[in-house]
Amino acid sequence: MLKIENLHATVDGKQILKGLTLEIAPGEIHAIMGPNGSGKSTLSYVLAGREGYEVTEGSVTYKGQDLLAMEPEERAVAGVFLAFQAPVELPGVGNANFLRTALNAVRRAKGESEVDAIQFLKLARARMKVLNMPDDMLKRPVNVGFSGGEKKRNEMLQMAMLSPTLALLDETDSGLDIDALKMVADTVNSLRGPTFSALVITHYQRLLNHIVPDHVHVLSAGRIIRSGGPELAQELEATGYAASVAAA
Ligand code: ADP
Ligand code: MG
Ligand code: MG
Repeated sequence: MLKIENLHATVDGKQILKGLTLEIAPGEIHAIMGPNGSGKSTLSYVLAGREGYEVTEGSVTYKGQDLLAMEPEERAVAGVFLAFQAPVELPGVGNANFLRTALNAVRRAKGESEVDAIQFLKLARARMKVLNMPDDMLKRPVNVGFSGGEKKRNEMLQMAMLSPTLALLDETDSGLDIDALKMVADTVNSLRGPTFSALVITHYQRLLNHIVPDHVHVLSAGRIIRSGGPELAQELEATGYAASVAAA
């Protein structure tokens, strides 16, 4: 589903990713942990195609296609979803319109029929109920004036509605209380299945108590230095990253 090979990337001429290799099979959830500044956000931005992130070596194949050759919008309609560490605000763009436009672009790409405003509202409201979001959040501009928790809920609404093939969650748990954390985990778990894969980037093991990953990787200085199962996250929580970094 996703094959990252020997990925090197720079930001503003600074080498951040230095030979990262990772393969995600359909239906798998992988967690990436690692110290601050190790390149976790850079990896998610490179995969989403954010401007300013230059790949200098290596390849990324997504469903057999060269992901890096695709425009960010093409990646999104092909089922790649990025939940940002800091969700963007879009003044003047209504949340419902934004989400319905995105949903219909994805549906067209899959050869599915578009949803009209009424069908959309029905789908969105059902999801919002589960996410404990008030209906009026659909009318407001995207993320403008939303609290941190509301932004995360809105991202989970987007993710649930778009039902991506590959979800990239970059520290979606940062700053969340336990209830919001469970909401994020429940949303991811509700999407779990053979056509949903995820890369969950997190500093802390606590999110991984709720989203039990298939594989855990430690990123340090732009490379994966250790991989293991869910128990690796628990070990890191107990011992910190230093021992892994020193042994690499
Ligand atoms: P993480 O998400 O693991 O904390 P990041 O991917 O955000 O790490 O950052 C990796 C490194 O890249 C850090 O040392 C950071 O300072 C650096 N970096 C990020 N953005 C830029 C930029 N625009 N210019 C220069 N360095 C950057
Ligand atoms: Mg960070
Ligand atoms: Mg980061």
